Amino acid sequence: MSKFLFKKIRGTEDILPEKIGAWRSMEDIARRIFALYCYEELRTPILEETHLFVSGVGETTDIVTKQMFSFLDGKGRSLTMRPEGTAPVIRAYLEHGIYKKNPIAKIFYIGPFFRSERPQTGRGRQFHQIGAEAIGSDNPSIDAEIISLLLHLLEGVGITDGRLELNSLGCSACQHDYREKLKVHFAGKDTLLCSDCQERLKKNSLRVLDCKRSQCRSLVADAPPLPDSLCKACSKHFQEVRDNLTSLGISYHLHPHLVRGLDYYTRTAFEVTHPALGAQSAVAAGGRFDNLVEKMGGKPASAVGFALGMERLILIQEKKKHRIPTQDHLCVYLAPQNEEAFCEMVKLLKELRHSGIKSELDYSRKRLKNQLRLANKLGCRYVAILGEDELKKEIITLKNMDTGEQEELPPHQLVERLRCS
Ligand code: ATP
Ligand code: MG
Repeated sequence: MSKFLFKKIRGTEDILPEKIGAWRSMEDIARRIFALYCYEELRTPILEETHLFVSGVGETTDIVTKQMFSFLDGKGRSLTMRPEGTAPVIRAYLEHGIYKKNPIAKIFYIGPFFRSERPQTGRGRQFHQIGAEAIGSDNPSIDAEIISLLLHLLEGVGITDGRLELNSLGCSACQHDYREKLKVHFAGKDTLLCSDCQERLKKNSLRVLDCKRSQCRSLVADAPPLPDSLCKACSKHFQEVRDNLTSLGISYHLHPHLVRGLDYYTRTAFEVTHPALGAQSAVAAGGRFDNLVEKMGGKPASAVGFALGMERLILIQEKKKHRIPTQDHLCVYLAPQNEEAFCEMVKLLKELRHSGIKSELDYSRKRLKNQLRLANKLGCRYVAILGEDELKKEIITLKNMDTGEQEELPPHQLVERLRCS
């Protein structure tokens, strides 16, 4: 035997059978709610060309500069395990001409993502997101719809006390103006910023607003508010998003320094935070990206979307002691008492399962006492016993594990009997 046991890689998690119910129910609820809003699922590969993320997410972002798991394949091409979902969705949207089907493509995805970050509570190297993108319209009511959908999903999994933070980053021209204001704001103070932010200030100063370090946060606190730099059209768009939210009864908090961790965002930016999360307080984030489709080689198409972190959803549910759904209980445990009974019960097991009855057989030929003990531990409702006596009388003994009552019935009636129970 090997002298050591292999361990999972730091920052990755095994989702154990006792937790899978919570994950599955979250996915089922999400799929049901997405269908109500006419979103269709898209599954893109885990591996993409590295360049997709460099150009789609942005060269100056944390994701591209330090968080990607990339490697060279046998032909020397650089591949990357997807760190986020939007660039792959837009690639697929363009590659398969999804825009031809409907002027507004509504797409959702659920799956794993990979970022080389320092692992901590709520921050993994492999994590899972539920995300959505609406591509093809800059109508502010779509921004409101996507926020409303996000809140519906959270409500669906029992989370109604998230805090919605809202901002607008404006178009490229507004962002250009704002960067100039930031330069003035940080002039003479740049050495007080962390070394990353001193770099960001030169390459993409908006990124400084997103820094989590306290020394930078205090300097950002009195930076000019982003909405003050919006042009007329962007101001109007932002106002309409807010009016739409209000008419849907959605309350929000304006956060004039909120930016997103990806370069492609324009106009609306939002985040949902939750007090149960501590330092990694955002459970979901999103916004509008009106230039990305064109940047990736398509005809201009405005878009808006979000991504929801599933590990953080589970963390909130656990802190709130939300009832985590478990799998269906085992209905019947088949307990053969000899070889002949075992052969009969293998056939019976197939019939039960094909009739949709969750059932299991004792393969280890234990004694009846042990079989009953195990069935009890598995939370089984019935035990079906087949021994010498039963074989002679051509019956089966069915024991109700809740009441302890026993009844005898012909084996061919077992399926019908359990169906009615
Ligand atoms: P953060 O500020 O927490 O780093 P981000 O801006 O990098 O978030 P996005 O790329 O917008 O996050 O991803 C959306 C959501 O995905 C986050 O709100 C979070 O719930 C989840 N998420 C992002 N990165 C991780 C990670 N490394 N581990 C677990 N969940 C994550
Ligand atoms: Mg991050």
